[in-house]
Amino acid sequence: MATVGSVTRQIAALEISSKQNTTATKTTRSTHQKQGSQTSNTVSKLLTKFAAPNPPSSKTIRPQTSNSSLSRLPTTGQAGASSSNKAFKAPAPLSREPTQPSIDIGRYDGGLEYDEENRGKKVYGQAAEELALDSSVIEHQPTREWHLTDFDIGRPLGKGKFGRVYMVRTKCEPKYIVALKTLYKSEIIESRVEKQIRREIEIQQNLRHPHILRLYGYFHDEKRIFLMLEFAGKGELYKQLSKHGCFTEKRSSRYIDQMADALDYLHSKHVIHRDIKPENLLLGINGDLKIGDFGWSVHAPGNRRTTMCGTLDYLPPEMIEGKEHSKEVDLWALGVLTYEFLVGCAPFEERTHNETYKRIMRVDLRIPSRVSPDAADLIVKLLQHEPYKRIPLPEVRKHPWIMKYRSRSSNPQPQ
Ligand code: AMP
Repeated sequence: MATVGSVTRQIAALEISSKQNTTATKTTRSTHQKQGSQTSNTVSKLLTKFAAPNPPSSKTIRPQTSNSSLSRLPTTGQAGASSSNKAFKAPAPLSREPTQPSIDIGRYDGGLEYDEENRGKKVYGQAAEELALDSSVIEHQPTREWHLTDFDIGRPLGKGKFGRVYMVRTKCEPKYIVALKTLYKSEIIESRVEKQIRREIEIQQNLRHPHILRLYGYFHDEKRIFLMLEFAGKGELYKQLSKHGCFTEKRSSRYIDQMADALDYLHSKHVIHRDIKPENLLLGINGDLKIGDFGWSVHAPGNRRTTMCGTLDYLPPEMIEGKEHSKEVDLWALGVLTYEFLVGCAPFEERTHNETYKRIMRVDLRIPSRVSPDAADLIVKLLQHEPYKRIPLPEVRKHPWIMKYRSRSSNPQPQ
């Protein structure tokens, strides 16, 4: 068994190797009761910090021919890209690969085979083409070609609406750990969310930020889409919130700092998240927050949107009214999140939709006295009825309540 120290040194080597090879009614929220994932062992937590499954390979990535069943995934800003594929040659393997310790990825429960027999159907036609998603055929940033057989499957991490999530390890060196998320195509089609899923994948694939869950690659077979996601070693933030009821001021402040940093990055890429809530947040191996769900995100350069979406408790007044909305919806949600971290429930939570709507529209905010004046000040500045009055993200990051708890080693201050 490798010691923590030796694993840490190997991790450092891994990080270098990965850098060198980068080619690559009410939506009821019963307070803090979501089913969570299991915990992982320390060594795997350590290793996965630097997991980046675009491993060195001498294999030439086979281009998909234009009559292939695989369609090209237009990447952000590349919609309608040419269908011609260039052969992509992966970099040669490094001469000195770090030797991997044996990482316990836990026991596989046979769930993929079970699901394969019991759920999902093959899909055909236009919808099938929409969902023929494979990162190895992205023109400007292809990853290597992946298949399910390239992984050792470990313990189940959780179940999502469209399939299971597993902790897996690549069979090839260096043996990266990732979370493999399966999505059943026929179920996506039945729920009529092909475009939403495609959009989620397109958006997440292009994001690189320490507080945004990385999507390293994706591939598909006849029935399923597989997403290779950064493994969030400490699981769901929601589970922590359920366990503790609420967070301390220090912990809340650090999470909100990380959220503000990630949202600022998203907005700079013209991505509005639109569904910020504890259920969509994961924790990395160091306990860092990771935005992990992009189902409602929209890539909207200069666009104002009118779709009503998101969880009711986190909806801003402009979305309830069906008005145009913009990136400020995420500022409102950040205010709701700050409140929920500190108080343990959402600020406008009521028994019926109607009552919640009314309280949101009136900004009927009641902050308990145990919340510090600094934290209350930030909440009030974020929960402004008029979107333009909400405190901008760079100012959130400089707010006294955030500065007070930011450690020197944490994120650098925004410019
Ligand atoms: P989802 O389909 O994204 O809702 O995922 C279902 C569950 O799997 C989540 O609630 C988490 O417990 C777990 N999960 C999803 N993605 C990851 C990940 N990247 N790392 C660890 N656990 C995950």
